[in-house]
Amino acid sequence: MIHSQRPCIITGNWKMYKTIQESIDFVKKLIPLSASSPSKIFLAVPFTSIQPLAKEVVGSPILIGAQNMNDASEGAFTGEVAARMLRDAGATFVILGHSERRRLFKEDNAFINRKVKRAIVEGLRPVLCLGETREERDENRTAEVLSTQLKECLAGIEPKSLVNLIVAYEPIWAIGAGNQSASPEIAQDAHLICRKFLSELLTPEIAEQIVIQYGGSVTPKNASDLLKQPDIDGLLIGGASLSLESFVEIVNDRSHID
Ligand code: PEP
Repeated sequence: MIHSQRPCIITGNWKMYKTIQESIDFVKKLIPLSASSPSKIFLAVPFTSIQPLAKEVVGSPILIGAQNMNDASEGAFTGEVAARMLRDAGATFVILGHSERRRLFKEDNAFINRKVKRAIVEGLRPVLCLGETREERDENRTAEVLSTQLKECLAGIEPKSLVNLIVAYEPIWAIGAGNQSASPEIAQDAHLICRKFLSELLTPEIAEQIVIQYGGSVTPKNASDLLKQPDIDGLLIGGASLSLESFVEIVNDRSHID
């Protein structure tokens, strides 16, 4: 299936794994092994690896990004990192509102909204994560939860400046769950809900251009069936992005374009 206007973007989210040297060793091998990938490859790496990897990928199509940032431009916020610093280190995108940040660090939609605004102002491409819990799905509240997250996280942002937004639909019950990935049909339904809501919130033209990734226990086994769905434009991958072998297998998959 060719997703007409939208590129396929596959992002590895390394979370709090890999030292600088481990990151460099991985990327040195990834570059030649992924040279004929039909997808764009993004790596969201620990802060410490951003600058060395941004240097390492020069001349390759791989892009390096961060997994979080603060919403302020700068200031007395001990332990935080600003968007401008990430850009300076070579990051081109940033994951915002990951469910681990929402759950473990109590980030809410209002805070994430301010981060999306800051990322756009500073020229970082935002990857906005959203998704429902198992309980919300069982109560048939998935559509309501996804549209509230989109509405609140994108509040007050000029639609035109959101063409480069990436939305990552990550059902919380499927993250890090091993064999609990959403089925391609369940994921496609949720992606369509997001796209329809984006079309109402922004404009239909802009909603058509927004890349919506699926995340949650993606493996080399299930990646291609997910990517064949018309509204799944890419993947956000945690566990399987840490192993070179499985990540390369996923990024080199061509069955969704042939
Ligand atoms: C994630 O952390 O964004 C994620 C999708 O993790 P996993 O692939 O391990 O489920």
